[in-house]
Order: sequence, then structure tokens, then C-alpha cells
Amino acid sequence: MQTEGEVEEPSAERAALVVHQVTLSERGPFVAPRCSCGWYGPARRSRPLARDEAAAHETTPPDG
Ligand SMILES: [Zn+2]
Repeated sequence: MQTEGEVEEPSAERAALVVHQVTLSERGPFVAPRCSCGWYGPARRSRPLARDEAAAHETTPPDG
């Protein structure tokens, strides 16, 4: 079988397009930060603390 026009997407290029957009999801009294890259932080009762951790992830995303 032959497949013409098959395009392979380089994974490295995809990795470069990862955007860290953190959104806070409220769960009752807790607020948990979730990122568009798949990262999510622990639920916090303090909203400022959750936002601070979210900001810290956006600036210094965990490698790997
Ligand atoms: Zn992220």
C-alpha cells in the first residue's frame, strides 16, 4: 500500500506551541489551578495562594 501526501508533524514543533494558560476552577470552598498544558495544582482554600502558584507555573513550568 502506498499513501501519498502523508505529512508527519514534528513533535518538537508541537512542544514549542504549548501555551501555559492557567485557569482557576472552583470546587466548593477550594480553588484549584489548571493549566492548558495539562498541569494542575493542588486545591487551595486561599484564592490568592492558588493564583500565586498559577503565576509561578506560568513563569517556571515544570520540565518533563
Ligand atoms: Zn502549563
